[in-house]
Amino acid sequence: MSAYDFDVVVIGSGAAGLSAALAASEDGASVLVAEAESIIGGSSRLSGGLMMGAGTRYQRELGIEDSSEALFHDYMTLNQWKVESAVVERLTQRAGAAVEWLGDHGVEFYDQMVYGGDETVPRVHCPIGRGQAVVDILYARCREAGVEFALGQRIDRLIVQDAAVHGVAVGDDEITAGSVVVASGGFGANDEKRRELFPSVYDTGWSYYIGADGARGDALDFTRDVDAQITGFDRGLRLLHTDFDRMYEAYIPGWLVLVNREGRRFCNETAPYGIMDGLLAEQGDVAFAIFDHRRLVEATELGVARYKQSIPGSTKRQSPHWNLDIIEMMLKEGKVQVADTVIELAVKLGVPPAPLQSTVERVNELCAMHEDADYLKDPKFLEPIEEGPFYGVEVRPATCCFTACGLRIDRDARVLDASGRPIPGLFAAGEVTGGVIGPRYVGSGNSYGNCVTMGRVAGQSAASVAATGQEG
Ligand SMILES: Cc1cc2nc3c(=O)[nH]c(=O)nc-3n(C[C@H](O)[C@H](O)[C@H](O)COP(=O)(O)OP(=O)(O)OC[C@H]3O[C@@H](n4cnc5c(N)ncnc54)[C@H](O)[C@@H]3O)c2cc1C
Repeated sequence: MSAYDFDVVVIGSGAAGLSAALAASEDGASVLVAEAESIIGGSSRLSGGLMMGAGTRYQRELGIEDSSEALFHDYMTLNQWKVESAVVERLTQRAGAAVEWLGDHGVEFYDQMVYGGDETVPRVHCPIGRGQAVVDILYARCREAGVEFALGQRIDRLIVQDAAVHGVAVGDDEITAGSVVVASGGFGANDEKRRELFPSVYDTGWSYYIGADGARGDALDFTRDVDAQITGFDRGLRLLHTDFDRMYEAYIPGWLVLVNREGRRFCNETAPYGIMDGLLAEQGDVAFAIFDHRRLVEATELGVARYKQSIPGSTKRQSPHWNLDIIEMMLKEGKVQVADTVIELAVKLGVPPAPLQSTVERVNELCAMHEDADYLKDPKFLEPIEEGPFYGVEVRPATCCFTACGLRIDRDARVLDASGRPIPGLFAAGEVTGGVIGPRYVGSGNSYGNCVTMGRVAGQSAASVAATGQEG
């Protein structure tokens, strides 16, 4: 009979927490999940649930040859090795198995794989029913396995004895456990923490968060008592934002042309969003989308066909921002500039007129050539800017999709202290951790893949402490 209330307590019921709970339970542990909100699922239930994983049976069924080694290579190269390498190795080795584990538990995936970023073969798995379906299925399996859930319990303290973590507390209510898994998500919903730990999104001035209210970064506070190490400063994913309203749009439509403050084009406008985030940083986090009236009318009529990427199951038929009705409305609010000539438009936008004029001429030349000889955008998205009125809209990478600064872990998901030593009894996974998501978001599915894969690892590690009383 255990001396504890539970073998394992998991803090948070998102993809990371549910995966940890189910994995610990599969390894024979008694498990309690403590959730601050009155609803299961955190940001994971709002998410697309797209998951990156390599060498899966789903890929093989589609004839896609891939491997965890290739994923590791892509991940590390894109991030210039500025990540916790051994953790990323574990993540990439096990991500494919984690996708299949979800499948074994009843998650269904579309039989169409998508590219998440810049990989050479598609390896993003799209669950039918998005993130909510993954959460629902994991929750159901946890309940069947006897995992207990306590909703409305916002953990504010760890119980620590002899420098080891032995439970959690909300005020005076204590629950003891052989080990604790922190899976409490990021801090995107906390303005103060976003300012302090993710300044490159906060300092855009238009910053807002698209995830769940529970992402307040509590763990960064309640793990101070055990001197947990924080890593991954200023990391997360920023999406382009138009400041029209707070409805996020993961990709900008491919027909738009982006120019920088000098009036020059600087990228393939259909670059994956993880790459686009970095491209905007190079431009001082400001760009302008330029187009003419005819393109706007055509794109409004064509709708979704103007996006580079279409996610299976997506019902979106029209851009929420880049359509005639919204642009005309935002024109009245002064958030769109319009002019009869490109030179006048440049003056209104505050960019040098001559470079903008020559950029527009170059775009029209590329359209005539049917080839983007400068930035390699797929020719099907090349559209001329030739007939006034001409429009310009400022964009900034201000949409905070998720945060990636958090607890430093090792490859077994053990939380490390300021000296780099594992804190006995404490594990973590998902958005609450740092050093796993790098300076470049590898692409769609990087975060959810991390949550499920490392959630599983954390649950297994925590259960093994319960079974043996020993770590590692
Ligand atoms: C709209 C949207 C779409 C996205 N789409 C994708 C995608 O398709 N693919 C992808 O890879 N990534 C995507 N992301 C990012 C990804 O979904 C998240 O990073 C991931 O789901 C986070 O999971 P998590 O389990 O770490 O945290 P969460 O799912 O946020 O769960 C954490 C839970 O912990 C709870 N909690 C917090 N503090 C406490 C406390 N003190 N005590 C108890 N409980 C606490 C929270 O209430 C929450 O329920 C998306 C994000 C958003 C917002």
